Amino acid sequence: MRIQRAVETGEGRMNRSLASWGLAIGILLGASAPARAAPPAAPVYEIEAIRYATIPGFPLSGLVAGADPSRKIDIAMIYWLVRGGGHVILVDSGFYRPQFFKTWTVKDFASPAEALGRLGVKPEEVTDVIITHMHWDHADGMDLFPKARIWLQKDEYVYYTGPAWQDAKSHGGVDPDDVLALVKANIAGRVSYVDGDDREILPGIRAYTGGKHTFASQYVTVPTVSGTVVLASDNMYLYENLDTHRPIAQTLDAASNLRAQDRMRTLASDPRLIVPGHDPAEFQRFPTVAPGVVAIR
Ligand SMILES: [Zn+2]
Repeated sequence: MRIQRAVETGEGRMNRSLASWGLAIGILLGASAPARAAPPAAPVYEIEAIRYATIPGFPLSGLVAGADPSRKIDIAMIYWLVRGGGHVILVDSGFYRPQFFKTWTVKDFASPAEALGRLGVKPEEVTDVIITHMHWDHADGMDLFPKARIWLQKDEYVYYTGPAWQDAKSHGGVDPDDVLALVKANIAGRVSYVDGDDREILPGIRAYTGGKHTFASQYVTVPTVSGTVVLASDNMYLYENLDTHRPIAQTLDAASNLRAQDRMRTLASDPRLIVPGHDPAEFQRFPTVAPGVVAIR
């Protein structure tokens, strides 16, 4: 700053030559000097998809817009563990409360807290939980991780703790117990808002909006050794959404959802690194590293 100002004045020449001497010395010393100018590189993360339950016989037309209603699929219930740079992050948190077992047929269930044990991780070791959206099967487990900071879109927080409950039709899939757990976590100082699109929320990990699966659903990108992974969550239920360019069947804005899926292609280093929210094929496409767990790489 000081050098720049001096260059504009009459005494600039002297300062400029001092500056170039400094530059030359810097180049000479470069090999041994600490790289203080370079910002610390973002960590490279490891990601595992953890399948903690199955809901059998789900109609495909509830997942892919326009799909044949007679087609059924056993959907995988999934959350993702992201580790690197001292962070133990969950993207989504699964479900465990008893009411969901009354309304849904659930197979092969393990509590999301216990399922972490397949990778030797304890619930209290989780540092962060990124909630992609407030639906019960993604947000219900958020209070199983007592030390974690919870990240979600500010608009998602505001809407589902308030206006959504003014109308019987605007909170489908959101459980009151999860809203109360979220408010309690906020009162305890453990909630961080993500305020909008394309935000870095942890080193190298970015959040994007646009799928409109819920009022302000988000998805995240994560740098890995294989390149940038997109954890789409329910903004892309199945590979079929991406492969056939069909919006998810449950969205508040189908055009926005398709734009989000198109954008995921530009964000991911390779389309195979776009990871859907409920596709059982995810567990065939990536290598198994523990029972019901694959490494996204
Ligand atoms: Zn879901």
